[in-house]
Amino acid sequence: MRPSFPRRDILWWCDSCHAPVLARVCSHCSTRTREVQVTPPGDARPAFPADVAQVNRVYSEHFGEPLIPPGHLALLNKVPDQDRMDEIIVGGGVVGSLKYLPAESRWEPIPRPEASVFLKPRRKYVVVDNGAVPSIQHEGASVLAPGLLEIEPSISRGDEVFVLDEERVVVAVGRAKVDASSAVSMERGAIVRTRRNVHSICTRGEATWDDAVRASAGALEDREAEALSFIRDVAARNPLPVNVSYSGGKDSLATLILVKKALGVVPLLFADTGLEFPETYQNVEEVSRTFEMPVIRAYGGEAFWKAFVTRGPPAVDFRWCCRTAKLQPVEKVIREYWGECLSFIGQRKYESFRRMVSKRVWRNPHLRSQLSAAPIHHWTALQVWLYLFREQAPYNPLYKAGLDRIGCFMCPSSDVAVLRHIEKTHPDLWQGWNCRLEGWQKEEGLPDTWVGEARWRLKGVSSEEDNNC
Ligand SMILES: [Zn+2]
Repeated sequence: MRPSFPRRDILWWCDSCHAPVLARVCSHCSTRTREVQVTPPGDARPAFPADVAQVNRVYSEHFGEPLIPPGHLALLNKVPDQDRMDEIIVGGGVVGSLKYLPAESRWEPIPRPEASVFLKPRRKYVVVDNGAVPSIQHEGASVLAPGLLEIEPSISRGDEVFVLDEERVVVAVGRAKVDASSAVSMERGAIVRTRRNVHSICTRGEATWDDAVRASAGALEDREAEALSFIRDVAARNPLPVNVSYSGGKDSLATLILVKKALGVVPLLFADTGLEFPETYQNVEEVSRTFEMPVIRAYGGEAFWKAFVTRGPPAVDFRWCCRTAKLQPVEKVIREYWGECLSFIGQRKYESFRRMVSKRVWRNPHLRSQLSAAPIHHWTALQVWLYLFREQAPYNPLYKAGLDRIGCFMCPSSDVAVLRHIEKTHPDLWQGWNCRLEGWQKEEGLPDTWVGEARWRLKGVSSEEDNNC
């Protein structure tokens, strides 16, 4: 069963250094940190400049003010939703979310009352009589017509709104039940349905990611030491040729750095599906050069397109691609080079609910010749990032451009929000894929919505939640 309660014991905040911390005490200033409760699986990551810009654009368009102030560190935490939703953590508390509405192809800001620590709404707010405040704040009552003093004229039914008291202090957030134009003439009835949230503490203060690395220095050293001894131990127990499975993503980069420190230079095994981003190919080269580790490439592109002709595109619940374009070519290379091998892989349990129960050393039943081990199994995304920042590692620039996970560019398990983003940032790549989809749509006599509304991603019933190959 999925846990729905806030996840504890993975993220803290230092109110003196204004940075997230991976431990109960800040390594930089030695003060006790404050726990941040995030929604499971709780794999919060740094908000990069493109992420901050996106959050601020959506909040500005709706509320007339950006949410994340300049110089403040922010984290994003992906939470379960119909398509894409990220919790936004600023100043050590959850201040709201950003939700993608695939049917409307747009992002919606969903603030929490704590957003008011960083944002004074200029649009989409209502002002209520102070007498109505206690029941709204403590009992979760709706804003009713009799208690309404002012309603900002641009409010439409269904809008997210802030509720202010007579002194213009935010007392609640919620969703408008009516348009502003109808609300002004109403004598009774609900104007805003308010929302109750877990309360967060938020403090203002600027910091850099280098400050965050310093604040977590002790935790990073401890985790690194544990991972190094795990790698040495697994290698000693399994005397097989060793490699690192490198995908161009952050997790495999952290794994590679750890393996090099523990065992020295080993080859990088790159599963090239032929569907990687150009930035990924460049990153594989750059990383190989920087760490002086040779690349062994397993190419699955031809097999993918051959299979496409008879099967059509892979879907969330029909993912033939992973075995065809990745596992089989990798198996072939392993047999060719080593017969059998030990691969260190950047798999982490916080990536998904399914990964929570996965093992740290395992054999894939479809790839028996590879013994896999995950040195960073217990690491969170934030930990991986702080480690990469500390090591000044050459990570894939796609992360800075607003992608939080990197694999095949057209992965059917990606959210629609992500696919739309890629369509904009990599139009040529996307156009090529679209042509293939349109060809299949025509051949099979499928409706236009199949490509237009990204329905190709779902063949039947969606059952797969783990979007990692
Ligand atoms: Zn501190």
